[in-house]
Amino acid sequence: MNFEDRKKLVTILVPAFNEHEVIPLLYDRLVNLMDEQSKYDFEILFVNDGSKDNTLELIKFLRKKDSRVNYVNLSRNYGKEIAMCAGFDYMKGDCLIIIDADLQDPPELIPEMLKYWEEGYDDVYARRKSRKGESFLKKLTSWGYYRTLQSMTKIEIQKDTGDFRLLDRRCVEAIKKLRESQRYTKGLYSWIGYNKKEILYDRDPRAAGKTKWNYRQLINLSIDGITSFTTSPLRWAATVGILTSIAGFIYMLAIILKTLIYGIDVSGYASMMVVILFLGGIQLIFLGLIGEYLGRAFYEVKGRPLYFIDSYNEKKETNRKD
Ligand code: UDP
Ligand code: MG
Repeated sequence: MNFEDRKKLVTILVPAFNEHEVIPLLYDRLVNLMDEQSKYDFEILFVNDGSKDNTLELIKFLRKKDSRVNYVNLSRNYGKEIAMCAGFDYMKGDCLIIIDADLQDPPELIPEMLKYWEEGYDDVYARRKSRKGESFLKKLTSWGYYRTLQSMTKIEIQKDTGDFRLLDRRCVEAIKKLRESQRYTKGLYSWIGYNKKEILYDRDPRAAGKTKWNYRQLINLSIDGITSFTTSPLRWAATVGILTSIAGFIYMLAIILKTLIYGIDVSGYASMMVVILFLGGIQLIFLGLIGEYLGRAFYEVKGRPLYFIDSYNEKKETNRKD
């Protein structure tokens, strides 16, 4: 067999953190898909993100009976963003499909993604038409957030999309070069550019198990999203500073004039307190904002590796260079 008629290899990347309830279901659905798509070779790459349940045992079991299954076992729980990054590093395919373990992303969409990939698109992403089983508040906050983020940057942010997408190898290689530790991968997909294609789908509720995100983590991710993507909040801070100084200057002139004309009077305690508190508040907010960026710089400057792995398939990682 010469190189030309080698089948293309498609890697399906599944980050998994405490997902033992859904992994068998997911595997079955993926096997159906892989059997259908005999044009391609497949690799299922699980990244076990420090699960505390039987996820790893299950993955090992699947690997024993199906050689298409590979896995990276991280040394602890690093979070989905880093888990995906490990997946990017270890994938072998000509393209990569990222899919959640919980079957919220229907694998049945993959043939369509592959079709567009064959047509020459590099990043085929699935956009949610609906989000079943998610609270109104979650939908509203996510809607508001995307719009806010977009208003702050020129790079186009993909609305209502998650990580469920197909990436050509060259996109993966591009993202692999972006080694920032505070990752907001959704921003990275937009940042690298290339040919993008959107497909629409209905997001299903989780097949089983519980969401791994709580609101605190989502808020943190949102702040990471903004601060990793744009420094425009710093610009706002400067603008607000300039405006308040102009206002302060005008007020100063008014006070000087008033004192010259009417003499000193000691009243004005209330207005003084208001001004002090207001300005104090603004200053603290902006200090916090600067701190946020400084903190990010601190993490990046350390230049630590993004993650350590315990093993890739059966091979234990020793971290030794020899
Ligand atoms: N996940 C992970 N590490 C984590 C949290 C989540 O690898 O620390 C994985 C999880 O196993 C799932 C995917 O990321 O495959 C999405 O997680 P989840 O369904 O909890 O998020 P949601 O769909 O609610 O955004
Ligand atoms: Mg989910």
